Amino acid sequence: MRLLFLILVLIQSLFALNYEISSNKIANGKTALLQFKHNINRAYENVELLGWKFKVFDNRVLLPISYYAKPKKVVAIVHYRDYGKEKTQTINLEVIDGGYAKEKIQVQKSKVQLSKKDKKRAAKEYKEANEIYTTISEKNYLKSKFIMPLHSKITSLFGKARVYNNTLKGYHSGTDFRAKVGTPLVATNDGVVVLVKDRFYSGGSVIIDHGQGVYSCYYHMSKFDVRVGEHVKKNQRIGLSGVSGRVTGPHLHFSARVGGIQVDPLQLIDLLNKNILKD
Ligand SMILES: [Zn+2]
Repeated sequence: MRLLFLILVLIQSLFALNYEISSNKIANGKTALLQFKHNINRAYENVELLGWKFKVFDNRVLLPISYYAKPKKVVAIVHYRDYGKEKTQTINLEVIDGGYAKEKIQVQKSKVQLSKKDKKRAAKEYKEANEIYTTISEKNYLKSKFIMPLHSKITSLFGKARVYNNTLKGYHSGTDFRAKVGTPLVATNDGVVVLVKDRFYSGGSVIIDHGQGVYSCYYHMSKFDVRVGEHVKKNQRIGLSGVSGRVTGPHLHFSARVGGIQVDPLQLIDLLNKNILKD
């Protein structure tokens, strides 16, 4: 009887999903790392979470949580194959409140009305960027730890909520670094340049694809040193900081996307540097 029980437990453990997660509680705007134990007869495919699907690469997957996700218990569905047979298993997670600061702004109405032309341009650029972010390249360009795009004081963190007349109207989508016009900026890691453009809101913009759904973005630049399609190395100069786009003063706005979702760039870098990447 006892032997039978042991055998059952053993069989079950052979088929159960073996994984490690950076944290079961993930704040909105942050990313978690889910790593599966290698199993010769098993192929991990993707993980469904909050209506999104994230592809598993090399037995691991990044789970980004949208800034707008509400705190609650959620279920991640892991899709995998055992000996080619389709299977699923759920993992219980919890979205917690990121506790971001709020910036309350009382305005009459929108005082800054965009012209029809500007509105059209901004919408087109938004669509173009989204197409980039939701394109997941199979290749992983990351070979070593991320570095900062410049060494300077952080002037505004990711996530500060912008509340107009008591309604959440947006949030700070990246991390701002102090940078006077003309400060050299470097690629935070290896990758392929996928966008180099002067845009309405973000001004001189560079986007780098680091592979497998991870992108880094550099905004308000004054000069570009890279071209679309170019492979860049970590610490390679990509251009100069500036004051272009809709800004009140010169700085670098640095942001990141994972699997199409905007996340805190510094937390993402920290997560990857601590858990996966080596020096
Ligand atoms: Zn910013």
